[in-house]
Amino acid sequence: MVLVGFDGTTCCGSMGLSPMKCPRCNCLDDKVVDSRMAKDGAAIRRRRQCTDCGHRFTTYEEIEELEMLVAKQNNAREPFERSKVLAGLRKACQKRPVAIEVLETAAKEICSELAEEGRREIPSKHIGLKVMEKLQDIDSVAYVRFASVYRQFQAVGEFIEEIEHLEKRPQRTPLQPDLFESKSP
Ligand SMILES: [Zn+2]
Repeated sequence: MVLVGFDGTTCCGSMGLSPMKCPRCNCLDDKVVDSRMAKDGAAIRRRRQCTDCGHRFTTYEEIEELEMLVAKQNNAREPFERSKVLAGLRKACQKRPVAIEVLETAAKEICSELAEEGRREIPSKHIGLKVMEKLQDIDSVAYVRFASVYRQFQAVGEFIEEIEHLEKRPQRTPLQPDLFESKSP
């Protein structure tokens, strides 16, 4: 991505960069005189010059890290952390023949799915459902373990229904997921 013109100056408009309001004269037209990587590539630092008064100022463009919050059932909020999702998966799969890589992948998938939903606040129940969905394909024992805690089965009957439902599902080998193959004709 080229951000600086050959002559070292770039007009914001022609580069598709939005001008920033000059802090000195409030003019809304400037040109970028220098763009460089900052914060080890996590940000772009731009030197801008106001086309009206000539004042130079600096702007930073950074990746917005959307902080997602978990809305717990007791109405408390806490920052969403992938490590907690992974810990939940690991706990459910304790003493089960499931490779840690499988759980790490599942945790990553859950996080990106949640991020795509674009919600700032995620009900903890919703995260629980996502974890359950993944476990369903990973290990049936771990799934029932997790489900029994997170879905808070209303009655024993519901729990049995769940197990019966599981038995009808085709089993998948955790280390050889055929998630994609099974979808192709
Ligand atoms: Zn100005």
